[in-house]
Amino acid sequence: MRPEILNPLFCSIDTLKGIGDKYLKLVANLIGGSKIVNILWHLPYQIIDRSYNVKLLNVEAGRVWTGIVTVTQHLEPKTKKQPYRVICDDETGDITLNFFKYYDNTIKKQLPLGQKRLISGKTEWFNGQLQMSHPDYITEPENIQKIKKTEPVYPLSAGVTNKMMLFYVAQSLERLPVLPEWCDENFIKQNNFGSFNEALKKAHNPLSVDDLSPLSSVRKRLAYDELLANQLSLAIARMRQKKKNGRIISGDGRLRQKLTQNLGFDLTNAQKKVLEDIYQDQKSDYQGLRLVQGDVGSGKTVVAMFAMLNAVESGAQAAIMAPTEILAKQHFETLSGWGNITGVKTALLTSKIKGKKRAEILNNLKNGEIDILIGTHALFTDDVTFKDLGFVVVDEQHRFGVEQRLKLSLKGNNPDIVVMTATPIPRTLVLTRFGDMDYSKIDELPKGRKPVDTRIIPISKIGEVVAALKRKIDNGARAYWVCPLIEESEKSDLAAAMARFEELKALFGDCVGLVHGKMKEKEKDAVMERFKKGEITILVSTTVIEVGVNVEEATLMIIERAERFGLSQLHQLRGRIKRGCEAGNCLLLYGYPLSDTSRERLNVMKACEDGFLIAEKDLDLRGGGEILGTKQSGFEEFMLANLEFHKDLLYTAYKDAQLILNQDPELKTPRGEALRVLLYLFEKDKDFKTYKA
Ligand code: ADP
Ligand code: MG
Repeated sequence: MRPEILNPLFCSIDTLKGIGDKYLKLVANLIGGSKIVNILWHLPYQIIDRSYNVKLLNVEAGRVWTGIVTVTQHLEPKTKKQPYRVICDDETGDITLNFFKYYDNTIKKQLPLGQKRLISGKTEWFNGQLQMSHPDYITEPENIQKIKKTEPVYPLSAGVTNKMMLFYVAQSLERLPVLPEWCDENFIKQNNFGSFNEALKKAHNPLSVDDLSPLSSVRKRLAYDELLANQLSLAIARMRQKKKNGRIISGDGRLRQKLTQNLGFDLTNAQKKVLEDIYQDQKSDYQGLRLVQGDVGSGKTVVAMFAMLNAVESGAQAAIMAPTEILAKQHFETLSGWGNITGVKTALLTSKIKGKKRAEILNNLKNGEIDILIGTHALFTDDVTFKDLGFVVVDEQHRFGVEQRLKLSLKGNNPDIVVMTATPIPRTLVLTRFGDMDYSKIDELPKGRKPVDTRIIPISKIGEVVAALKRKIDNGARAYWVCPLIEESEKSDLAAAMARFEELKALFGDCVGLVHGKMKEKEKDAVMERFKKGEITILVSTTVIEVGVNVEEATLMIIERAERFGLSQLHQLRGRIKRGCEAGNCLLLYGYPLSDTSRERLNVMKACEDGFLIAEKDLDLRGGGEILGTKQSGFEEFMLANLEFHKDLLYTAYKDAQLILNQDPELKTPRGEALRVLLYLFEKDKDFKTYKA
């Protein structure tokens, strides 16, 4: 239950004066919610200085001026195009107020002849006269106190003016209750933070541009509160996860030994280290949930195999889930080979496998005949029952949200779960998106990997690129041709790929294939399959090329308009040609004009093959959403924090959350109670409830 003290903040904004039905929707859309808190989280990004009030004679045109004038003349327009003009003066000079949209009566009422009025707005010099069009304020002189000398400016949208926002914010701040302090006292002192209330009030009443900076103590305090709520809720989720009973899995090593002896290569130290982490999860009595990150080609599959063998050694079954049929099939090829070496029974289950064969597999799963099952996500939605599922690997599934992880963890006998991803995820994102999971990183590639030769080429030289492609294809190579990402619509994306496909087909004939996002999964798989078999040697695609698909003969990657892609995306694409024994070539074609940053980004690609480094750079340049493949930025989930500036605060919040839960896991101390208020304030109670399950 939400602490009562927060109730005033969770009232609907329709309880504010001046909103009514008319503006409710507009404001809610703007602030991203319909509660009072949403107004409070909507912070100003600029200020208008209304303290400038020299005499009219001395006004520097262009500045916002605020002062008291006497209305001396009304000039009604002679034609429709002319503005309604009102001339005002002080003892030193005059100013013309222009109204392009107006009702005579209002203007006459607002600016009665001979009266003094307070006006404020942007001045300009026009036709030899000082002018002001549509003053922001026209009011009686005694209201001067009501106008803030420094006026915050809010992000706005059509139909919602800054004046309205000022009015709503002022009312909302009045409802702000005095909240208990949830931050550590020393931390507050060290950072010169005020209380949350003070910070929020100051954030809405900036005195100078410095107060708007993400690095101001006011903004930092608020950012910290939000980050702490985020980290604490994730840490609680993780703690709960760890309390769930899991299976104790600790094999005797006989199968793993066999595999080690016959593998043909030694595991890298990084692979060994990550395996130790996984064995630890398996051995413990809690249900493990671990994210394993490893760059393309770092050898995640074999790590999965060893961990699965551990489960099989101790009498349990294991499953590995791939995002697509073709990847599942590919895993099956690899894993069944290793299964034969070790005498472990593997099976493939996808939606393509039907009828008798399917029934047989299901039966053998139930009676424990099958040790390791390989499949797509259908594994978990279908009526598949295991005899004793002890370990699950989810491969290449970084788009897998907290909720999905939760659902998965509720299946079977609380098997330990490992989620593997090839997308190098920077630490900030790991903490904010995957903070409910344990985390390991394969931070080393097997020895002897050949570097990819990456070139940056202007699209105008496409003729030479095609000639190079022809030479390679004639020599038996296979190539990917990735078509540009077009922001505006998916349709034009597809159109570009189709056009390129037709062009290449005219030159190369039937060995050119096309895959795109609008195709059905089955159709895509069929084309990929033909590419694998070599019936197709040039594969034109939008960016859908399957993550992780192994086509060893593919050594050439051509990416059109590479400047439009995220760096991590380019890295992933380039990873496709690092799988064979021959060194690959990657051609990044760019269009004009190429901005300096774009050039810099492409140069990063040329110079660097370390996915983690690239991801960090990408994060700095494009924001987290691109890395995780979602449209919106990964950091947009924060309203007050901005990880471009508040990384340090995130790490502190992470540590703070750990410390808090170590000392007060139930949040029962006075600080714990205050932290509960914090969690509800930032609406983390949803996670809270889900995880109670
Ligand atoms: P990814 O992490 O991209 O899924 P894979 O598991 O597909 O990578 O491995 C890529 C290739 O590297 C495979 O052919 C695999 O057998 C091989 N490999 C994995 N680990 C090692 C190692 N330690 N030494 C040499 N080759 C390895
Ligand atoms: Mg893989």
